[in-house]
Amino acid sequence: MTMRKRITRHPTRRVMVGHVPVGGGAPVVVQSMTNTDTADVVATVRQTYDLWQAGSELVRITVNTEDAARAVPRIREKLDALGCSVPLVGDFHFNGHRLVTAVPECAQALAKLRINPGNVGRGAKKDEQFATLIETAARHGKTVRIGVNWGSLDQELLARMMDENAQRPVPASPEEVMRRALIASALDSARRAEELGLGADRIILSCKLSGVQDLIDVYQDLASRCNYALHLGLTEAGMGSKGIVASTAALAVLLREGIGDTIRVSLTPKPDEPRTLEVQVAQEILQTLGIRSFTPLVTACPGCGRTTSTVFQELALKIQNWLREQMPVWRDTYPGVEDMSVAVMGCVVNGPGESKHANVGISLPGTNEVPVAPVYVDGEKTVTLKGGRIAEDFQVIVEDYVRRTYGRDAA
Ligand code: SF4
Repeated sequence: MTMRKRITRHPTRRVMVGHVPVGGGAPVVVQSMTNTDTADVVATVRQTYDLWQAGSELVRITVNTEDAARAVPRIREKLDALGCSVPLVGDFHFNGHRLVTAVPECAQALAKLRINPGNVGRGAKKDEQFATLIETAARHGKTVRIGVNWGSLDQELLARMMDENAQRPVPASPEEVMRRALIASALDSARRAEELGLGADRIILSCKLSGVQDLIDVYQDLASRCNYALHLGLTEAGMGSKGIVASTAALAVLLREGIGDTIRVSLTPKPDEPRTLEVQVAQEILQTLGIRSFTPLVTACPGCGRTTSTVFQELALKIQNWLREQMPVWRDTYPGVEDMSVAVMGCVVNGPGESKHANVGISLPGTNEVPVAPVYVDGEKTVTLKGGRIAEDFQVIVEDYVRRTYGRDAA
């Protein structure tokens, strides 16, 4: 059973990204990014659709060439034809000003343009190119994410701030100056965008770093200085458990403080891993913090010397995967099912107790226990399963519970 503590959200302005509200107290939005060549319409539509099916509420795509820009309206069209209304975010670097000018229908098909102030241009051209992007967004009524990244921080701004720092009687550390430069780049760019005619309710900010402590410091500072909607993410989090742990550590601290209106988990998928894993991790971060629910989660014990078989591990995995697979349909058919809890426990020590706290729980037999598995529904023992079909029988019980509890005809 989870004890939920109400989190007071940092007050930010409400921004619309297509039909999805971000900030201003709206639910924290899960975002993801494709890794296909955007010019490949078929592959990008397929991956965007998969990310959306997995629960991504915004999908970012790279717009790096004229072919990619021309593909964007076709991708939008094909997604709409599939009934997939997920707003698309275009990621522009270096040549964005040229692409939105040459292909105006690209900006029109996007819900949001992501601009990195460090990659807009150099010297005198920078202001002009930045203005082209902002004015294009304003003209089409689109939202802009001003996304600063420490790997591509505006070098002119950083050099100027380093010089100013060196003149001070007690200079700050170079790391501290860099953190301040990230924030200054985001806030200066946002102010400039407003001067160019983009409303504050069309601006989202992000300041991404790959260090967990640095990211937390920067966002705490940024949140204290503005009320723009904020996108959170640890950049280049990495692969496997490292990427998941680092992202979770950083995002959990900030989200617990009410900072963050939209999140993305920047995982590097292993060759055999689906791109949708980043969506699943983002959802699980929000759900385990008690901020939003997406999919019924399975509570499972870790197993120990009291378990001699892998039955309970296999059952826990099977049930969790099955629950996740049902959600694209269940989301509409069984509203509220995302809050359901299921427990799969390995023996009598904690099994009955934990199972009673779940909506549906099963306590499997441990070593030397009678080979039976009591099932608990809403805290009451209802049936005892035995034999070789415990997994299948338990799944039927969970399915029946979902239908009775969350179906349209449920009392
Ligand atoms: S519930 Fe039983 S099998 Fe699971 S970890 Fe606890 S003692 Fe071990």
